[in-house]
Amino acid sequence: MLSQESAVSVPLVSMKDMLQKAKKENYAVGQFNINGLDFAQSFLQAAQEEQAPIILAASDRLVDYLGGFQVIASMVKNLMEEMKITVPVALHLDHGMSVERCKKAIDAGFTSVMIDGSHGPIDQNIAMTKEVVAYAREKGVSVEAEVGTVGGQEDGLIGGIQYADPEECVQIVKEAGIDALAAALGSVHGPYQGEPKLGFEEMKQIAELTDVPLVLHGGSGIPLHQIQKAIELGHAKINVNTESIQAWTKAVRETLDANHNVYEPRAILTPAKSAVMKAVKSKMREFNTSGKA
Ligand code: 13P
Repeated sequence: MLSQESAVSVPLVSMKDMLQKAKKENYAVGQFNINGLDFAQSFLQAAQEEQAPIILAASDRLVDYLGGFQVIASMVKNLMEEMKITVPVALHLDHGMSVERCKKAIDAGFTSVMIDGSHGPIDQNIAMTKEVVAYAREKGVSVEAEVGTVGGQEDGLIGGIQYADPEECVQIVKEAGIDALAAALGSVHGPYQGEPKLGFEEMKQIAELTDVPLVLHGGSGIPLHQIQKAIELGHAKINVNTESIQAWTKAVRETLDANHNVYEPRAILTPAKSAVMKAVKSKMREFNTSGKA
């Protein structure tokens, strides 16, 4: 007979309350980008073991590679049920490339979206963001917008850093009514060349002027003292991808190098899953998210 044990997992939530609480209590919730099923498993297990809220994200440029919006949403929801996840989890679209893509993600069950209109003029950015907010509000979905340009690879474009303009930040927060703001202030997607130089003066100014939870993109490779300062200055969400994929690749390489006869995916990926979990837990401790679920 089948076990009558009922599922104890909780449904996906938006990141609105998660980020408000984090900002008030001076910690940041980590966003970890999904690169495949095994990553999602590692992230959820790390969050559950650390008793930490978590944001699982799919970068828009990887959505097709991952099987599409529906597949990603069902994968995360079903894993949460199978794994009996009880900590708060949001499923977020990272760097949504258009209003239509954000709507598709919401329709598929994502509980949060980022509309990235940062590559165009601010008026266009605000107009796109407003349209996404109007659609998201009805469904209880949170919205993140970006001002300025994060360095490195963003939306498949390799670009230089362009600092967010504080006036434009105020404008987008007031006019579009977003839940979180990614104000680009010197961070970079991918590995840093030397020590990151975050614009703390501008960060302070933007935090005071807007009072909205800030998002730090390019969260890999930033020294702890700069992470702590960013949290003090209003960052409630920190995005991490490079550190997880580097941990994964290092473990895969070590397994393959150590045994040239290995060919079974499970034998190769199991150590990689543990390595990703360890990397994520370490970020959660740095961001002071552990025990905050
Ligand atoms: P890293 O890959 O540098 O950690 O940045 C992740 C990110 O900002 C995703 O939006």
